Amino acid sequence: MVTTHSLGFPRIGKNRELKFALEKYWRSEISQQDLLQQGQSLRQAHWQLQNKVTWLPVGDFSFYDHVLDTSALLGNLPARSQNETNDLDRYFQVARGQSANQDSCHAISAGEMTKWFDTNYHYIVPEFDANTAFTLNPDNLIAQIKQAQQQHQQVKPIILGPVSYLWLGKSKDDTNKLDLLDSLVAVYEQLLITLAQEGIEWVQIDEPIVVTELDDSWHHALKQAYFCLNKTPVKLLLTSYFGELKENLHLVCELPIAGLHIDAVNGFSEINKVVDWLPSHKVLSLGVIDGRNIWKTDLNSCLDWLEPLHERLQDRLWLAPSCSLLHVPVDLTNETEIDDDIKSWLAFAIQKMDELDILATALNQGYLSVQQQLQDNSTAILSRQQSTRVHNLTVKARTVSVDKAIATRQSPYNKRALIQKEHFNLPLFPTTTIGSFPQTTEIRQKRKSFRQGVLTEQDYHQFIKDEIKDVIEAQEAIGLDVLVHGEPERNDMVEYFGQQLEGYAFSQFGWVQSYGSRCVKPPILFGDISRPKAMTVEWAKYAQSLSDKPVKGMLTGPVTILNWSFVRNDQPHSETCLQLALAIRDEVLDLEKAGINIIQIDEAALREGLPLRRSQWQSYLDWAIYSFKVTANGVRDETQIHTHMCYSEFNDIIEAIAEMDADVITIETSRSDMVLLDVFNEFDYPNDIGPGVYDIHSPNIPTVEKITMLIKKASQRIPAERLWLNPDCGLKTRGWAEVKPALAAMVAASRILRASI
Ligand code: GLN
Ligand code: ZN
Repeated sequence: MVTTHSLGFPRIGKNRELKFALEKYWRSEISQQDLLQQGQSLRQAHWQLQNKVTWLPVGDFSFYDHVLDTSALLGNLPARSQNETNDLDRYFQVARGQSANQDSCHAISAGEMTKWFDTNYHYIVPEFDANTAFTLNPDNLIAQIKQAQQQHQQVKPIILGPVSYLWLGKSKDDTNKLDLLDSLVAVYEQLLITLAQEGIEWVQIDEPIVVTELDDSWHHALKQAYFCLNKTPVKLLLTSYFGELKENLHLVCELPIAGLHIDAVNGFSEINKVVDWLPSHKVLSLGVIDGRNIWKTDLNSCLDWLEPLHERLQDRLWLAPSCSLLHVPVDLTNETEIDDDIKSWLAFAIQKMDELDILATALNQGYLSVQQQLQDNSTAILSRQQSTRVHNLTVKARTVSVDKAIATRQSPYNKRALIQKEHFNLPLFPTTTIGSFPQTTEIRQKRKSFRQGVLTEQDYHQFIKDEIKDVIEAQEAIGLDVLVHGEPERNDMVEYFGQQLEGYAFSQFGWVQSYGSRCVKPPILFGDISRPKAMTVEWAKYAQSLSDKPVKGMLTGPVTILNWSFVRNDQPHSETCLQLALAIRDEVLDLEKAGINIIQIDEAALREGLPLRRSQWQSYLDWAIYSFKVTANGVRDETQIHTHMCYSEFNDIIEAIAEMDADVITIETSRSDMVLLDVFNEFDYPNDIGPGVYDIHSPNIPTVEKITMLIKKASQRIPAERLWLNPDCGLKTRGWAEVKPALAAMVAASRILRASI
């Protein structure tokens, strides 16, 4: 018999119930009791939806983040929060920070947040220092186990493994994290003993770091930890996901554990090797259903390769999604606006659990028992493979015939810079912004009325034009040098373009947790990408008609569009990215033709796409940077290309960034007081740079002195003639009352700096 299980279910709820309950609780609109109740009913509902599995997951639910839950479980919440006596409030304090108020005269800073491997989920980074001591706090987990046991006979707690927990955390002083391993493992031993006392047989212990490059000390830590944990009275299923084990494969197969889970989607090519190497007393769980994407599994071809494996492994074979379903939306059936064709190609979390059940039933009871389901699946898979909506021959022909030369500017930067200098005649330290201006409630309301058909297209367009006019006038009054139209027509920098490109579909409820109560709804890139008509030209042209100063056209780059979408899995990402690049390239050229001579192409998410293993970075950077260059570099020398990135950790990819050859790059630096620019000491970045001088994540208005000081610091690393003044990022989340004085301070600082030269 094949055993089935899941590595976790989305917590947020079909209708984002958790998000709304959390936010109400934080606004003191509901009691803690109400919030706990909501958590309980969500768990119950999610178990109900997974009730066909052999082992029901427990411990995957979280009120904010499972890594923070682990810190709480291990008694490792930062000491700065210790005055809060209510456990849940203390937990939220670490998650979100607390500003100084009457109750507490000191502000308490939130735990640092960072991306969970290469996903768009963010976890709260565990903190360690010389005083770190772990103590077991199992009550919360035990309560959930008891609740699960009332629903299902066999429950399998999910915990984050000790070695990954240390690896994911950060040492706040010189403490070597691995020095904490022994004391940490001792607490895990207690935990596993406690779980055994609750009648637990199997425990899923996540060690996702085994798909990354690990040095000997981490290999040793894994061996040591599992040598100890193996002595406890539970069976451990060690789970890896998001990639291949590669050089860690032998080590992982030989760890003293009862079972191993591997990602059979991203690590497909390794399955046979794992089967060969895994000792014959261990269970092998194969993650056969993609937990990171929204496409239906090809069940028939999956069964083709699973069947011989099943024969070989017999009862040792377990099946599951590749990773936690945290990374996909909950339910496809709610979607009414995706047309039936496309909808038939998709599977969200609930549908993925159904797929798992069909596979297991086919193997356990024979194919005939699920004949209809297999037939339906095959129809859907075939329809996607053959659909002319997916395959556009013109687009394919264009991508194969691309001449690589189109990715290179006509002249090198030095020559272009002179031509542009003459053309634009900008002062030293030119001032500009990153694109968006405040998205006021009025703008959002008008967009909503337009979408609902309450406002006519004509009225909506007039409204947008009036907004653009206001934004241009405001920038003129402030005295900025390079203006923008303000992006009032965009709700989101990716969705806006997706909606105008062929090959994209949109869900209504396809929310995925990004962090805490925050969710994103990635658009679905299902087919070959083409641009039926110009997307931004009218707005840009109108904005330019209102001013003698240059207005910067504003586009989202191909890599960012790709990285923030659910992307088709039937061709390499590099190919899809090139299609996007060609579509945006056409937009760039149309803008140029329309008289827009400065064009910004945002690549906010370029860094996010870096693979988990450093050895694979270069091949990603090769196609990502090439795509950007295809997009940007078809313009004349006089046209100035800007790009923007929402970070400045460039040290490791600075050469690739330079290779993009944008005339100007704007980056985020203000909060770090320009120390992040240290990379420019060693690497001589050749083109212009605008290091952000206004932290748009904070309501604070920077002073003229602060901005002047920041730019002076920057000019120690970058020649003054190549510096621009701009905010860290777009202004859409800020209010006009902050934006106006902040930009005015920036302009005043630029004048002081010019005078000083
Ligand atoms: N042009 C976009 C804006 O200003 C850039 C946003 C981003 O980088 N995240 O909003
Ligand atoms: Zn940004």
